[in-house]
This record gives sequence, C-alpha cells and structure tokens, in this order.
Amino acid sequence: MTSPEAADSPVPAAGRPLVFRRGTVLTMDDARQVLTVGDVLVVDDRIAAVGADLAVPDGTQEIDATGGIVMPGMIDTHRHMWQTAMRGYGADWTLTQYFVWYYLEHGRRFRPQDVYAGNLLSALEALEAGVTTTVDWSHGLQTVEHAEAAVAGLTEIPGRFVLAYGNIQAGPWEWTALPEVQNFLRRLRDSADDKLGVQLAFDVTGDPAFPERPAFEVARELGLPVTTHAGVWGATTDDGLRLMHENGFMTPETVYVHAATLSTDSYLRIAGTGGSVSVSTESEQSAGQGYPPTWQVRRYGIPVSLSMDTSVWWSGDLFSAMRTTLGADRSREHLEAHVKGDTVTNSHLRAEHVVGWATRGGAHALQREDLGSLEVGKKADVILIKNDASPVSFPLLNPYGHVAFQAQRGDVHTVVVDGRVVKFVHRLVGTDLAKARTAVSETVEFLQSELGEPAWAAGMNPDLPQDDEVLDNPYTYTDYKSAATRSARETIFGEPAEH
Ligand SMILES: [Zn+2]
Repeated sequence: MTSPEAADSPVPAAGRPLVFRRGTVLTMDDARQVLTVGDVLVVDDRIAAVGADLAVPDGTQEIDATGGIVMPGMIDTHRHMWQTAMRGYGADWTLTQYFVWYYLEHGRRFRPQDVYAGNLLSALEALEAGVTTTVDWSHGLQTVEHAEAAVAGLTEIPGRFVLAYGNIQAGPWEWTALPEVQNFLRRLRDSADDKLGVQLAFDVTGDPAFPERPAFEVARELGLPVTTHAGVWGATTDDGLRLMHENGFMTPETVYVHAATLSTDSYLRIAGTGGSVSVSTESEQSAGQGYPPTWQVRRYGIPVSLSMDTSVWWSGDLFSAMRTTLGADRSREHLEAHVKGDTVTNSHLRAEHVVGWATRGGAHALQREDLGSLEVGKKADVILIKNDASPVSFPLLNPYGHVAFQAQRGDVHTVVVDGRVVKFVHRLVGTDLAKARTAVSETVEFLQSELGEPAWAAGMNPDLPQDDEVLDNPYTYTDYKSAATRSARETIFGEPAEH
C-alpha cells in the first residue's frame, strides 16, 4: 500500500469537475507563483481556477493534495518511442553501437506491429511518470503501414503526443517525396486534434550539396515543423546548421536535439532564428553526442526543453532528466572554474530552471502555449506528486528542489490529461498494461528469432575495450598481487586473469 487513502479510493468520474485541495502548487506561470497551500480546479478540459480555499461547483470531486506538489504535466520533446520494445537492451552501448544496431543492422527488421508495441508501452510509461505530452521522434517508419501502427499505439493511450515522422532506412529527400507519405502526413495534419500533433524528423549531414533541401520544402509546403539531431559528435555538425540557415530553413518551431558539439556561430544562428534545443542529458552523457549543452545554450538565451531520447538505454521519466541536467550543468561550471583556479560559490542553474524546462520549456518548443503551466484557461494537464508512505515525501521545504532531486516516478500519485484522470493513487486508470506486455513480448520473441541467439547476445553485450588495465599503485605493495598484475576484468568482476 502506497498511501493511507488506499487503492480502493474511487477513481474520479469523467465529466465532473475536479479539485486538488491543499497542495503545494507550482503554477509555473510567468511570475513562477508558488502557493504553499493551494487548490487547482479542473472543469472539462481546462484549468478553471487556481487559489486558496476555492469555491467550487456542486458535484466537484476532491483529491486531497495535502503534503504533495501539484504541478503541470511534464513534456518530453524527443523520444524514440518505438525503441521501448527493446527496453534496457543497449544499456552499455555507445552511440556508434546504437547506430550499427538500429541504422545498419537490425532497424529494418521492425515490422509495423513492432513499432506499435514499442509506442504502446512507451506511451504508458510516459503517462505513468507524469509526462503528459511526448514527441515521438519516430524514425523507424519504413512504410506508411509502420506510420499507421505508430499512430495506433499513440492514440490508444490517453496522453498528448506528437508524431515526428522519420525513416532512417532512406534519405529524407527520398521518403518525403513519396506521395503516400505526403498523403499520410496531410491526413494526419488535418485530422490532428490538440492531443496528436505532427512534425517531420530528419537529420542534416552537412553535405555541401544540401540534399535535404527537398525534405525541408515538403515540410514547408505541408506546414509542419522539423525536428533534427544537431551537434552530435561524429554525425551532425556546424555545416548542417549553416546550410539550414543560409537556405532559410531555421525557424522558431525547429527543435534541435542535443546541440552538444556546436560552435558559437551555430548557437547564435539558433538563438537568432528563435528555435529551441531539446537536451537529453542522460543520453549525451552515456552515448557521446557531446557534453550536455545547457551550460552553453543558456548563455545565448536559447530556450531549452528536456527529453529522454530512448528507453533502449534509459527510462522515460523526466525526473531523471531534471536531475542529470542539473548535475551536468553544475559539474561543468565547477570544472571550468577549477581549470582557472577559481571556485564557484553561486550556481547559475537552479532547480526551478529545470522544472521550468520540463514544463514551460516543452510547451514553448512545441508552440503549445496552452500547456506547461497551471493558469486559468489553459489545458488541464495536471500532476500530483504525493506519496505519504515514503520517507522522502517530507519535509517539503523547497518544492522545486523536491521535484528535481527527491521525487521519482513512483511518487506520481495522480495524472490528469485534458481534464481526464489517467493515473490515480499511483495506478494507471483505464489502460491495458497486459495488452502492451503481450505485444512487446511478441516483438522481442520475433527479433530474438530473427537475429539468432549469438547476435542477440552480442548486441546486448558489447566488448570491453582492451586498454582497461588498472594502473600500478605504490600504495598496494603489501597486496600479494599488485593491481598491475591483475586484469581490470578480474579486479572488477572477479574473473580469473589469463596469466
Ligand atoms: Zn534521438
């Protein structure tokens, strides 16, 4: 049991007003107003009131937020949701190994139902963690059938999503030229309500011939924003951004993912054209796109949003994103100071900033100013972080710090999307986890048999580098066997040395 109010509390009924009572309310409005004891009233799909001791309509259902934090639903601006079917498989990968596995070797094996399975699980994972809007950077769409399957997975789950259409098995100038792809995009654009948006997702190589031009022209003609992996070490460079800029394709709705290895000139081009950067700190730290760039981009005034990139390595919750982003930014600030013999006494990046990036930052990146804050008239995407059974739930002294460094997905008590309760008392509501489990296990079984056991195991267990000897240490001379005579593998894993 996670809460004294118990799992048998009735789930608030749809169609009736709902009020969160007596919580700490992070409005995330422009003034960053925080109510220490406040209420949030939801009527239909909108925030109807925010304040203390609100008068509410007859029949309003009440959720006791005492001891908890009420805040806007979080927004992830970059996630390859189809890859969630391979959760954790690439935990020890570098970016190179990821590229080889997905782009070169096995990405094309994924059938439409495999994309569906990954999306279904990923969408559930997002909602459960209080991420109410997710951009599905869907670059496994080899056919329109794959795209239909991706959308089927997203629309089955009551969250907000943006399908960013991509295909790593062809050049962007090729797949965007296909009439069936353009028809699909047009159809999706015209039928999209405010719970399902559409973008184009492709990368720019920096080839001086700028072969991506026709893809940008399709995006422009269809009126769709473009999102692109930019500033990725060894993959996308300043040249790609310069070509985009010189050809007029850097726009305010463009989202640049990672933007980790770029020059001042590129950051100025992004800032000057009003685009934003999606920072996937956990990804940049492990995979090698470059140092997580917030310490740089914030100096240029570039808007930031947060993302988790892919569950083939990391889990899809923005608590991890906030925590690692604060850590990486501060770590870099200290390091830069130490190199100069200085000491940082006041940190620039605050917990409040990363909570802002996880909410308002995402709304801004998606040009959804009706999301990302708790203000009257905005869409009712609301979460309650509260876990009375957890010793980490009190004292609640610094609410931004609590969200960024103390809370985790299990503490997400209630999630409301578009006025509808989708998680309540720590449990998803009205969604079928068993169905996702079956779909994903069929995908895993299929891929395992396609690859065969040796390739499957090799893919998950990349070789250790050969230069992993532990340095000789004069302070261990009394050891019967000095560190230098043991292999690192033996030291770390206790495996016998080869000598
Ligand atoms: Zn990515």
